[in-house]
Amino acid sequence: MMPNPVVAIVGRPNVGKSTIFNRIAGERISIVEDVPGVTRDRIYSSGEWLNRKFNIIDTGGIDIGDEPFLAQIREQAEIAIDEADVIIFMTNGRDGVTATDEEVARILRRSNKPVVLAVNKIDNPEMRENIYDFYTLGFGEPYPISGTHGLGLGDLLDAVVAHFPKQEQEDYEEDVIKFCLIGRPNVGKSSLVNAILGEDRVIVSDIAGTTRDAVDTNFTREGQEYVIIDTAGMRKRGKVYESTEKYSVLRALKAIERSDVVLVVLNAEEGIIEQDKKIAGYAHEAGRAVIIVVNKWDAIEKDDKTLIEFERKIRDHFQFLDYAPIIFVSAKTKQRLHKLLPMIQMVSENHAMRVQTNVLNEVIMDAVAMNPTPTHNGQRLKIYYATQVAVKPPTFVIFVNDPELMHFSYERFLENRIRDAFGFEGTPIKIIARPRK
Ligand code: GDP
Ligand code: GDP
Repeated sequence: MMPNPVVAIVGRPNVGKSTIFNRIAGERISIVEDVPGVTRDRIYSSGEWLNRKFNIIDTGGIDIGDEPFLAQIREQAEIAIDEADVIIFMTNGRDGVTATDEEVARILRRSNKPVVLAVNKIDNPEMRENIYDFYTLGFGEPYPISGTHGLGLGDLLDAVVAHFPKQEQEDYEEDVIKFCLIGRPNVGKSSLVNAILGEDRVIVSDIAGTTRDAVDTNFTREGQEYVIIDTAGMRKRGKVYESTEKYSVLRALKAIERSDVVLVVLNAEEGIIEQDKKIAGYAHEAGRAVIIVVNKWDAIEKDDKTLIEFERKIRDHFQFLDYAPIIFVSAKTKQRLHKLLPMIQMVSENHAMRVQTNVLNEVIMDAVAMNPTPTHNGQRLKIYYATQVAVKPPTFVIFVNDPELMHFSYERFLENRIRDAFGFEGTPIKIIARPRK
């Protein structure tokens, strides 16, 4: 999977960045299932225009800490320059060009990233003459928009998409397993990578900068090729914003997008905190296979109940990841580390598994016989036929009389029956109810 182009919105506070962000991301957000317990972040989402998918960042939402106002905006602009393929520089047509706009413009001009200048709050045609001032910022034609009324967004996005890099070819063969490790700083991600690469039967073939700024590590074990995605983000340290929480989330998201399997790494010493949930939530929403890795298992006092207790806590906190296997390891002592790659291979196979249509339909019909379909307002859900339409993750379309009648809990029941019948450990599965034509 090639990473999607990244678009960043930059501009001073109150020009309407988050309003536009929500408009662009809005449709997309609403089709993502609403999973209880998944904490959503408002700074990073995806959008689509003219059949091009992209990711969008609202840099105004990146918390830079207690720095003065202007320093924060500068920092946000630098992040946009680092991370984005195209920058939307947003201004406010009611205020005219301000000194801060000029400062942001200076920073953006020094980069060679394409910049599309948006003038927001042009709520009606009479206000369009307000945009001429903005030519002085030096980014060519300003695009008048209104976040409140949704005006001008089409032209703006046309201009943004025109700057996207050409669609590149996938950089790895289909049967190579791509995985990444995500988690808070200091949980032991780099140590785990080094420990995996140091294993006996692991042959490291290449550590190369491939896709843009990412550094991938390729290796083989018992004939299976693997790639660890984006260890660059783990190795490259020291920049001020590297340590800010939301920025590391951004890095993790890029890696998740290019991976088949995501290892959500927790620190046994510190237990589970809110940030872990947020990170895990992204892995789930991206539809990747997931393994929960509890590292530093050597570092805690244990008795015969410790493991069970920890497992129970994880299941409690990560209910949306109930399909993810849990493994307790130590990068330091190498405890159980040899089980990790076989587990990655197993969940990756499940993630790509296709089931036979006739067997699938038997499973569904047996399920319906066992637990009759729900009714609503005197109407009963009828299930006609099911078919698997996609892998990575496995996605099933179920044809019914009326999709509105497919209650969440019944869908959940069908999902569990499918899991019981076929396995699918480690991978989310999607079920879509469609009306039969
Ligand atoms: P941000 O700080 O740049 O993210 O700005 P927000 O998106 O939070 O918007 C700041 C304020 O401007 C809010 O009160 C919005 O409702 C308002 N706003 C956003 N877009 C428009 C617009 O197109 N027209 C008008 N009149 N108000 C807008
Ligand atoms: P990262 O920020 O997630 O990449 O974490 P690092 O790999 O840099 O590890 C952070 C710290 O935890 C380092 O001091 C490691 O030596 C230590 N560490 C990593 N894995 C283990 C482990 O399994 N057991 C113990 N006791 N310490 C570990």
